[in-house]
Amino acid sequence: NIENLSDLNKLAVLGHGNGGTVYKVHHQRSSSIYALKVLRFNQNAAPISHQAAREAEILKRVDSQFIVKCQAVFYNTLGGELCFVMEHMEGGSLYDALRDREKLSEDVISRVAQCVLKGLQYLHGMQIVHGDIKPSNLLINAKGEIKIADFGVSRIVGGATVRNACEGCMGTCAYMSPERVDPERWGGDNNADGFAGDVWSVGVVVLECLVGHYPLIGMGEKPDWAALICAICLGERLEIPESASPEFRSFVRRCLVKDWRKRGTVEELLQHPFCQ
Ligand code: ATP
Ligand code: MG
Repeated sequence: NIENLSDLNKLAVLGHGNGGTVYKVHHQRSSSIYALKVLRFNQNAAPISHQAAREAEILKRVDSQFIVKCQAVFYNTLGGELCFVMEHMEGGSLYDALRDREKLSEDVISRVAQCVLKGLQYLHGMQIVHGDIKPSNLLINAKGEIKIADFGVSRIVGGATVRNACEGCMGTCAYMSPERVDPERWGGDNNADGFAGDVWSVGVVVLECLVGHYPLIGMGEKPDWAALICAICLGERLEIPESASPEFRSFVRRCLVKDWRKRGTVEELLQHPFCQ
C-alpha cells in the first residue's frame, strides 16, 4: 500500500502528455516500481479541472486485466498537482513499438485488437467511453500484455457529465470518428453514447499497426491536421494494403464504417474471425 507521495522516488521520465508528465518511480517500503502521472493545474483557477476529477474517478472505479491499474490517487492542493500511482508498463506504448519496429505482423495485431476490444467491452459495460484510443495510450508490460491507459478525455455516459462531441478535441483528432469530428454531417448530435467512436479508433490503430505509420496517404512524420480532418469529414477512405488478409480487411472495414449506426460493435468485433 502506498500511503505517501513522499515514499516515491522519481527515477526517470516515461512520457509527457497534454496535462502532465509520467515518471518511473521507486516505492521504498515495498521496493517496487510504479508509474506516476502528475497533472498540474492552476491553483488560482478552479480547485481542480472537471476532466482531471473525472479521470481520477474513472481510474478508481475500473478494475480489469485489460486496463492499466491505478493503485492510488493523491491530490496535492498546495502544489497544485493531482497524482496517479499506476502499475508500471515496462514495454512502453504501442506508439513506441511502432516507432521502433515500424510494422507488426497480423498475428500480433490480432492480439492487440483482442486486448483493446476486451478492455472496451469492460469500459462500455460500465458506461464509460474512453474517447482517446490511440497507440500512445495502449501500453505493453513485461509479459507482453496490452492494456488501455489514459482516461484524460474519457466520460461516463448517462449522468450529468455527458459532454458535447467536441469537448475532447484536445486529444488527437487523427483517431476520432467522423461523428465526433463533424457531428452535424455524421449525425453525432444524436450519438447519445459515443461507444461507436471508440470502435472507429480501434480500426485506425489496427490499420496503423499493419502499415507502420498513420494510414492516410501522404501522411508522413508530421501530418497536416487540417488536411487530415477534411479527409475524414469529406469521406476519404483510409487505404488498406493489398497484402492484408481477407480477415484483416473485413475487420478494419467493420470498424471504419462512417455511419456510426452501421459500424460494428465491440461485441460483434470480438466474434470476428480476425480476433479468433
Ligand atoms: P496525451 O495527452 O499525449 O495522451 P497524457 O498526458 O494523457 O498524454 P498518458 O497518455 O497517460 O498522458 O501518458 C503519456 C505517456 O507516458 C504514454 O504514452 C506512455 O509512453 C507513458 N506512460 C503512461 N503511463 C504509463 C505506465 N503506467 N507505464 C509506463 N509508461 C507509461
Ligand atoms: Mg496519452
